[in-house]
Amino acid sequence: MSTNHQLRLFNSLGRRMEDFTPAARITGMYSCGMTVYAFPHLGNMRPYVFADTLRRAFRWKGIAVKHVINVTDVGHAVADTNTGEDKLEVAAARERRSVMDIAAFYTDAWFVDVAALNILSADEYPRASAYVEPMIAFAAQLEKDGFTYRLPSGLYFDTARDPGYGELAQMSIEGQLEAARLEYVAGRRRKTDFALWRAEEPGQRRVLRWDSPWGWGAPGWHLECSVMSMALLGEHFDLHTGGVDHRELHHVNEIAQSQAYLGDGRPWVRYWLHNEFLQLGAEKMAKSAGGAPRLADLTEAGYHPMAYRLFLLGGHYRSQLDFTTAAVDAAQATLRRLVARVQPLHPLPSAETLAGASRLTAGDPAAERLLDAIDAAIAADLSTPRLLAVLQDALREPALTPDGQRAVVAAADALLGLGLATLDPADLERRRAVGDLNDEERRAISELIADRTQARQERDWARADQIRAQLDELGVQVTDTPDGPVWQLR
Ligand SMILES: [Zn+2]
Repeated sequence: MSTNHQLRLFNSLGRRMEDFTPAARITGMYSCGMTVYAFPHLGNMRPYVFADTLRRAFRWKGIAVKHVINVTDVGHAVADTNTGEDKLEVAAARERRSVMDIAAFYTDAWFVDVAALNILSADEYPRASAYVEPMIAFAAQLEKDGFTYRLPSGLYFDTARDPGYGELAQMSIEGQLEAARLEYVAGRRRKTDFALWRAEEPGQRRVLRWDSPWGWGAPGWHLECSVMSMALLGEHFDLHTGGVDHRELHHVNEIAQSQAYLGDGRPWVRYWLHNEFLQLGAEKMAKSAGGAPRLADLTEAGYHPMAYRLFLLGGHYRSQLDFTTAAVDAAQATLRRLVARVQPLHPLPSAETLAGASRLTAGDPAAERLLDAIDAAIAADLSTPRLLAVLQDALREPALTPDGQRAVVAAADALLGLGLATLDPADLERRRAVGDLNDEERRAISELIADRTQARQERDWARADQIRAQLDELGVQVTDTPDGPVWQLR
């Protein structure tokens, strides 16, 4: 069996396909995480499904990885200026909750989606708020080495000191000057110069504030990724991933400050990988509140989270994807067919014992050929569309022995992460959505909920429980919130 195609990845640094070779026994991998001030929408989850595919490719290739994803719970300004308000603080004021409540609430919401999408857990999820002291030390070192200048609004990184600035974004000098879609900052020498420390203005008092050599304030957003990745993965590490929007600014600034800090003339990180955008377009999903659709909106509408994962994997991570109802319908239908074909093969060998695949396929040339095709697909810059095609072939291939077929399906799914070993066709029957109810059904549900609320107010728990059981029979799930009961269909 030849599952030894060289893993090749598209490195944004240089914009070319390169062989991936680990620099150390454990490959360090850092992915930019969420700024936890709102629910993640569907597009926000694409970078983590992409990073997860990379993790699964490394596992398949026997490459040990330490994966770090940060949680931005402080310091991400709405605009990169002295006056730029902190996104967390804005959300806290809007929702009348404390900043730390907001961060904890939306971090949990993000983790719920991470789990629902079958994304492997990172080894560490460092919180920016826990790393402010080392961020101050990092900025102080840059200041000592002459890479910064002070303004009343804070400490700025002087991008003129970095001749390679903007290399990742492939910016020209004019491009660098134009790049910053940033607001005017009094005294800033170049538009690309960015805040390492954002000092409080006279009379302003941030909610989250730290004392620093540059006055009370908060760290600039870019600082946390340099500091936390080095703290957890070592000064140099192998891979940094994120959405393609980060390639133009956030990652450019991370590189500038990190290489200035290290000063050893070596590239800070060897491979930079970026996923393309998900276009949410004009397509409207039924939504309870405004904004871009979330995973919860999909499940509410009767789709399985794995249908969304399959939709993402159906495109290459470097291709833009258009999210439409038709596309997710198609993905759900494909998933249903896959699961129906895989179910008779249960139990599948587990993803963790893939070494056993070679035992199962010994003497099965069709299985060996398909395993080789799987390896070739994942090694070619994580070609999940090809991988899906091989999986489809495997389910139709008459020459496969049942054990060979099990091994091939398990191998493909260890990389795709669709959970085919446990998904049941019944999980994929599109459940009724709230929108499918007729007026009479809605009225009946509303009345039962009102009765239950009244029973609870009257502390008639027996009656409240009885009504809940009636609602249960109708498939209605009630959740009590501070704003009253909300319901959805199970
Ligand atoms: Zn970052």
